[in-house]
Amino acid sequence: MKDCVFCKIISGEIPSYKIYEDDFCLAFLDISNDVYGHTLVIPKKHYETMITCDNTTLSRVIETCKKIGDFYVKEKGIDGYNILNNTGSVAGQSVKHIHFHVIPRKEGDEVKLFNELPDCGADLNAVCEELKLPKENVVSCACDDAVVIYTDGACSGNPGAGGWASILNFKGKEKILSGGEENTTNNRMELMAVIQGLESVKDSQIIKVYSDSAYVVNAFNQNWLSNWQKNNWKTSGKSEVLNKDLWQRLLKVVQKHNVEFIKVKGHSDNENNNRCDALAREEIIKLQD
Ligand code: AMP
Ligand code: ZN
Repeated sequence: MKDCVFCKIISGEIPSYKIYEDDFCLAFLDISNDVYGHTLVIPKKHYETMITCDNTTLSRVIETCKKIGDFYVKEKGIDGYNILNNTGSVAGQSVKHIHFHVIPRKEGDEVKLFNELPDCGADLNAVCEELKLPKENVVSCACDDAVVIYTDGACSGNPGAGGWASILNFKGKEKILSGGEENTTNNRMELMAVIQGLESVKDSQIIKVYSDSAYVVNAFNQNWLSNWQKNNWKTSGKSEVLNKDLWQRLLKVVQKHNVEFIKVKGHSDNENNNRCDALAREEIIKLQD
């Protein structure tokens, strides 16, 4: 293409720092020189974007990205790499000749390629219904057989006697769990309700956890937990993270499944949340008798 800068690089009209070349692909250093070794991989044939590129060419370009990334890791002391493609100007594509960025990564490099995005608030079930490809492309949809767990914790005094409850629903069957502890806190009971619910699911599953505890839900959905782990269980104010024992127990069981946390409004119109609340309070009364 006449006015394409990458076509000009291929023809040699514009110089480049070539890393690799074969009959189909060319790889060269990105001129931005932002991350050490940032490389671009392009097909020699001009396609404007991923959308118009044929699959054979695309496969070759991806294979070349792998070849280069693996070489950097195996031979050049790089620890890993990101492969990134922008399709369309809205996605940040500035050069209209399909290209993949291979971005070498080093332990502790603190390169931030993606902003940590807040939860967009969409209902994943509805999004899945809206966006999934026609039926023949989806063998089975996870959202059809998710385990649903409602949880709640309560405390009489904080700290004080506490109770927790979980109601599980899986393929039309319900399981109810509850328990209490003498000297505990509301947050610990909220956590315990989720832990007990999740620990009772044997095989690895897609699980939706409904909780009215912002403490529990935000820890996952607003990346508090990943930050605590990175900071050796210290809060941003440098104090010890409370309830580390329970968070670690929860993390362990979460890793076994595919868990989505959903915040519900407490003491309102969510029937199962209200049932959990009542069960948790019964547990407190049992302790006080
Ligand atoms: P994108 O924003 O995904 O379209 O990426 C285009 C990339 O091409 C940017 O990272 C630019 O720095 C890079 N680039 C533009 N012109 C050149 C050039 N002449 N040589 C090497 N890289 C280039
Ligand atoms: Zn081109």
